[in-house]
Amino acid sequence: MEKENKNYVAHCLILPFPGQGHMNPMIQFSKRLIHKGVKVTLVTIISLWRTIKNKNLSSNIDVESISDGYDDGGYESAESLEIYMDTFWRVGSKDLSELLHKLSSSKYPPNCVIFDAFMPWALDVAKSFGLVGVAFFTQSCSVNSIYFHTHEKLIELPLTQSEYLLPGLPKLAQGDLPSFLYKYGSYPGYFDIVVNQFSNIGKADWILANTFYELEKEVVDWMVKIWPLRTIGPSIPSIFLDKRLKDDKEYGVSISDPNTEICIKWLNEKPKGSVVYVSFGSMAGLSEEQTQELALGLKDSESYFLWVVRESEQVKLPNGYVESSKKGLIVTWCPQLLVLTHEALGCFVTHCGWNSTLEALSIGVPLIAMPLWTDQVTNAKLIADVWKMGVRAIADEKEIVRSETIKNCIKEIIETEKGNEIKKNALKWKNLAKDSVDEGGRSDKNIEEFVAALAQC
Ligand code: UDP
Repeated sequence: MEKENKNYVAHCLILPFPGQGHMNPMIQFSKRLIHKGVKVTLVTIISLWRTIKNKNLSSNIDVESISDGYDDGGYESAESLEIYMDTFWRVGSKDLSELLHKLSSSKYPPNCVIFDAFMPWALDVAKSFGLVGVAFFTQSCSVNSIYFHTHEKLIELPLTQSEYLLPGLPKLAQGDLPSFLYKYGSYPGYFDIVVNQFSNIGKADWILANTFYELEKEVVDWMVKIWPLRTIGPSIPSIFLDKRLKDDKEYGVSISDPNTEICIKWLNEKPKGSVVYVSFGSMAGLSEEQTQELALGLKDSESYFLWVVRESEQVKLPNGYVESSKKGLIVTWCPQLLVLTHEALGCFVTHCGWNSTLEALSIGVPLIAMPLWTDQVTNAKLIADVWKMGVRAIADEKEIVRSETIKNCIKEIIETEKGNEIKKNALKWKNLAKDSVDEGGRSDKNIEEFVAALAQC
């Protein structure tokens, strides 16, 4: 609902890429902007708009839609990712132009477009209207630095070196680089998306990164020398961090029914620190063999576990597993942030998606890193070796993490001295994350600087 007659310092259009891991951080960032006096209009694709239009994202966020060319099903209904991205570019640019044209004669004409870096065409549209164009990184700066080096052809593909030393990053083996690089050619459509983020980045007035300075200090220091980049994260609901924002009842947009009551009731009955939470995010699927190994590992660990297995993935579970799991609860989707903050939680077996990583880090939950593809492998390396807030579940030569490994990782976190160190580190990151977004923290100041600059436009 629009608040009439307000003196907004600026009006930003926010354009996330249509996916759970992109919508969540950009909506949370929107709330921070609103807190600083900015008017925000979220622009999403028509198929998603239909799902979220009746949800109370925040009483202060307006929602508008543009077409991606697939109004009845979004990406899922496209012939291929390449065709989807191409159509979205073409149809989305035209629709975004029309929307900007319409809004230019509204009471509060927009002066800025903050677009997901996965959609660089939005920058060209913003610039054609003379607006401030801001790229938003939904992945880590470390990973984006690797993609930038790839775009600039400073990393030769297929990979030729056994190790890579890039500015501000630890030494990375081939297998620590995002999967699109070390398995070059595996997903050309995705490869193009992540590399094309940099096709026109030089024209962006600002780049905002969903991370915090202390976490990626060295690579951020390098990036700010070449770009107008600011860290603004972790972009997770204020209620789980600094608790400053009032308008924070909704945690974001969920693509599925989160089974909140079932999960919380079940967690309430478990001892403190006893539950292993397992989730691989909104996209990734495990192979049947991997699902069965994980199922066995969880059972053998004799720990309580809460495992998110999406509907389409449940056929891969061993026969009768759900019914016979006395210590486990399997759900198709859960309210992850509420689960992570529950005192029954002991550790998180994660695919290391960037949002899950930041959420766990901000809440101080130790991780068992089980990356599958894309940026997850690099995140896993940082989690285990740099931030030291988790252990890596190492896969065998068939790229399967065996049940024994899973069981041992759980025991390592829950029972050993190394596990205690990891828990201490996790708490250290939790405090740094909170300090960063809290009043006067680095991310808070960066948002203020950004808003003050917008106010001059
Ligand atoms: N998530 C959730 N419930 C679930 C699984 C995931 O709410 O059962 C949320 C999670 O909190 C995170 C997002 O979905 O914000 C997943 O993003 P991430 O970057 O971790 O992984 P992706 O889905 O992009 O692979």
